[in-house]
Amino acid sequence: MPDAAGSDQPASAGGPRIGVLAVQGGFQRHVEHLTEAGAEPVEVRIPADVDGLDGLILPGGESTTITMGIESAGLGPAIQAHHAADLPILGTCAGMIVAGREHLGLIDITTKRNAFGRQLASFEDDIEVEGIVDGSIRAVFIRAPWVESTGKGVEVLAEVREHPVAVRQGTVTALSFHPELTPDNRIHKWFVNACHK
Ligand code: GLN
Repeated sequence: MPDAAGSDQPASAGGPRIGVLAVQGGFQRHVEHLTEAGAEPVEVRIPADVDGLDGLILPGGESTTITMGIESAGLGPAIQAHHAADLPILGTCAGMIVAGREHLGLIDITTKRNAFGRQLASFEDDIEVEGIVDGSIRAVFIRAPWVESTGKGVEVLAEVREHPVAVRQGTVTALSFHPELTPDNRIHKWFVNACHK
C-alpha cells in the first residue's frame, strides 16, 4: 500500500472495483465517496459480490447487526479469502469492530464499543492520521469504538484521548470514525490508490 495520499491518481472510469459491505449501516455515503475518488463501487450483499474486488470497505452501523448479516449471508469466508489474497480492507466505526479479533479476525485488535461514553456519544475532532493523510483531517465520531488492545504488527496511526482510533496491520486499516460523513475525500482517495493493481 502506498504510504500516504498524494499520488493523485486521476478520477477515471475503470478505476479499481471496491466493494462496500451493504448488509446494514452507512454504506451509501462510502459508495458516493468512492465514485468521486475514481473507483467503481460494488455493493456487497452475497459472497459472489466479493469475487474480483480490488478492495473492500466495512462501513459503520451497528456491529451486532452487521455481524449477524455477514453470518446469515454466508459472507465470512468470502471476506476472509479477500483478506488472505492481501487485498486492501478498510473498516470504519462498526466496521472496525467487525474487522477485529472478536469477529472476522482480519486485524489483531480488540475494541471497546461506545467507548467515549454518553457525554461524548458523538463529537468531532481534527486529528492526524499518520501515513494516510497529510496534515489534519476532521473526524466524526458517532458512538465510536476505540482500540482496546493491539497485537504485534499493528501500527497505531492516530489516537484520541490516549486511545488508538486508527490502526493498520498489513493491508487492513481500521478507523473509529466516519470519513464518509465529511466532504473531505482524502481518506477515500488514499484507499482507492491503495487498491490500484
Ligand atoms: N456503536 C456502534 C457499534 O458498537 C458503532 C457506531 C457506528 O458505527 N457509528 O456497533
